[in-house]
Amino acid sequence: MKIVLKGGRILDPSQDLDVIGSVVLENDQIAEIGTKVDERGADELYDCTGCWITPGLVDIHVHLREPGYSHKETIITGTQAAAAGGFTTIACMPNTDPPLDNPALIDFLLDQSSSPEAGGVFVAPIGALTQEMKGERPSDFAALKRAGVVAASDDAFPLQNSAVMQRCMELCRQVDLPVATHCEDQSLTMGASMNEGAMSAVLGLRGMPRTAEEIHVARNCLLSFETGCPLHILHVSTWGSVAIIEQAKDLGAPVTAEVCPHHFSLIDDQMPPFDTHWKMNPPLRTKLDVETLISALAAGIIDCIATDHAPHARHEKDVPFEQAPFGIVGLETAVGVTLTHLTHKGLLSPLETVRKLSTRPAEIYRLDAGTLKPGRTPVAQVAVIDPDLEWTFDVNKTFSKGKNSPYHGCVFKGKTMLTFSGGEVYRDQHWDKRPQVQNA
Ligand SMILES: [Zn+2]
Repeated sequence: MKIVLKGGRILDPSQDLDVIGSVVLENDQIAEIGTKVDERGADELYDCTGCWITPGLVDIHVHLREPGYSHKETIITGTQAAAAGGFTTIACMPNTDPPLDNPALIDFLLDQSSSPEAGGVFVAPIGALTQEMKGERPSDFAALKRAGVVAASDDAFPLQNSAVMQRCMELCRQVDLPVATHCEDQSLTMGASMNEGAMSAVLGLRGMPRTAEEIHVARNCLLSFETGCPLHILHVSTWGSVAIIEQAKDLGAPVTAEVCPHHFSLIDDQMPPFDTHWKMNPPLRTKLDVETLISALAAGIIDCIATDHAPHARHEKDVPFEQAPFGIVGLETAVGVTLTHLTHKGLLSPLETVRKLSTRPAEIYRLDAGTLKPGRTPVAQVAVIDPDLEWTFDVNKTFSKGKNSPYHGCVFKGKTMLTFSGGEVYRDQHWDKRPQVQNA
């Protein structure tokens, strides 16, 4: 089987490549890439004029909800949503029921995600930092790593006890496993449901102070520096966290960080009052935070973009604001939000955009992804993105079971058109409407 992606803008940050050319896939491998490729004998030809051809995107912060919460999402619907968003490799969080704290559950997850319905998307599991995610006893990290986890995390249940966090980092350091942390001092956020500021005061809601995040960012960076354990800071949301991360990196601590699309595109003041589709943790902050997050991302202080895709069922979000669960879906809007709010505004170049959505996140968890170099990934992972397509996001037409998005009805510029992964092809409905399309 020979597939030719012809005449697109090839953007591969792993080779610092930004050139108009073609990519040839043969038997699910990247065979050729460049300006002069052999198109003869192609079984399928995709005219990519005007599109980007990039390494498959990589999202290292996804909640797939299985086992335990398949009414919110399943591994299959989650991977289908990923493919529709251009993601070919995703890392999934352990806050399932039961939590992913032992090798048997990791086996189950890897087994499910390799089924044909999963769209060829690779799932890299993240193991629980503590047993049953209770914040008490560290998990068996050596066993989890042997089973295939790429990191350990306390996401959704931020570890409050510093001694336990220190012990976990020491143990993870011994088996060379990155630790990913949701940073929140919960003694400062009890009963709070949005950012602490003018808007929370107007609405009469308890607010989460920014210091609740920053205290834990500082603590975890210090513990990373002390133990030498690679630390990945999840969903940074405040300018203060950025300042601390920059300092930790300057000191030589092995720290990386991510930002979510909603945290660089929305602010708390814009929230329609009591709209639970705008409720997430950490919460939406202020204009200054958004500006700082964007410049930190461009400067590399924040390493990558990750969605924190957190699907919930309609009935769970259809309750009073303070009772609603935190989180929004993100896999199918990440490209649209990023290109609209960053790339098209000139805040991130196309090559840097792809780096933040693919190559860099793959490096953080050492995943076989994020590159178009022939032979560097087990099978070809490629996305084709039309950067100029204007489209309206309709949450009711998404693959994810979760319909909890603040972007419903928003117009974006930039969309994933094709996703190739694991021998499967996802083709967006807009692809066939392209005027120059010519498929063999
Ligand atoms: Zn999360």
